[in-house]
Amino acid sequence: MSDTLHPQTLAIRGAKEQTQFNEHNQALFLTSSFMFDSAADGAALFKGEKQGYTYSRTANPTTAAFARRIAILEGAEAAVATATGMAAINAAILTFLSAGDHLVCSRSLFGTTVGLLNNHIARFGIDISFVSQTDPAQWQAAVRPNTKMFFLETPSNPLNEVADLEKLAAIAHAAGALLVVDNSFLTPALQQPLKFGADLSVHSATKAIDGHGRVQGGVIVGRKELMQQVQMYMNACGLSMSPFHAWVLLSGVETLPLRIEKQCANTDKIAAWLRDQPQVKHVCHAGFADHPQADLVQKQQAAGGIVIAFEVEGGQQAAWKLLDAVKIFSKTANLGDVRSTITHPWTTTHGRMSPEAKHEAGIREGLLRIAIGLEHPDDLIADLAQAMK
Ligand SMILES: *Cc1c(COP(=O)(O)O)cnc(C)c1O
Repeated sequence: MSDTLHPQTLAIRGAKEQTQFNEHNQALFLTSSFMFDSAADGAALFKGEKQGYTYSRTANPTTAAFARRIAILEGAEAAVATATGMAAINAAILTFLSAGDHLVCSRSLFGTTVGLLNNHIARFGIDISFVSQTDPAQWQAAVRPNTKMFFLETPSNPLNEVADLEKLAAIAHAAGALLVVDNSFLTPALQQPLKFGADLSVHSATKAIDGHGRVQGGVIVGRKELMQQVQMYMNACGLSMSPFHAWVLLSGVETLPLRIEKQCANTDKIAAWLRDQPQVKHVCHAGFADHPQADLVQKQQAAGGIVIAFEVEGGQQAAWKLLDAVKIFSKTANLGDVRSTITHPWTTTHGRMSPEAKHEAGIREGLLRIAIGLEHPDDLIADLAQAMK
């Protein structure tokens, strides 16, 4: 498909595996294997002399259509779909790192990613340094001769701190390292990290790509030469996405640009309202014109995103009271859904961190995170207002 088409068109028309039956929607190929025409055909497929499908752990038409559509939306040469977002992060890291290598990560990472790094990746003899999300000098200072990868997500969860992708890509590449960005928060509809020098972009498709809280999935995009290696690791470890989940996610992708645009507009409105409330100490939202990295937001992101963190007066007690009093918001740690959600990071997403580490990361007792969906923003504002009372 032509790359002059708009994302709204590509999200719907961007990739499809068509059969001879002329089905209009992407067909669901719920099959674990594929037949060979003959012994010679099987041999050619296995040798790679002939393109085609053999076994769904390796590749499946529905899953391939999903991966290709995300690659097109993100301006990437290739993509590999995985069972979950964590499978995508696992594959992005372990395809390229071995014992004795060094990995530099932002300190502001998704909690399960921190667990994967500290409890598992570290067991395999890979050294990990954690540095500031917003200070490229710390990344530069962390570089060692064996540094092979930088890993981060931007904006950060939940405080919306933005990393400078171009600067970090330059530092990584000068060190001979790859820059890997977890782009789950913004999706390809709002940010394409490869355009700013990232080598790989990974997603939890479970979040806004599905957008309806139905299935789990992940995807990695990047250059063909890197993605071929990821594909081999994904296949060997069995991290593949289910074709059924790919089929569900494809319908999510079709409305992704439309949903995200409206969700961002709703988020901007709610963030502005929150700022005016006397019970609210401060509001973190990447859509504010006076965001500390507003120039980077302007450059890297198409909008501020759908996540707001705000701190209420009165610490954990007040935050819990507000959370318990909302009627429309779902009390869940998920985000990116058409249903707005609310969570208390101190005791949920960041609950396993020590109080000191939380304070250092800017997570306070009175902080709440909301992720805005597609309900009318005035109804959500009224819900927060009654809960604050
Ligand atoms: C949810 C999430 C993940 C993990 O994705 P799963 O699909 O739950 O495995 C990774 N990174 C970020 C930023 C997330 O929000």
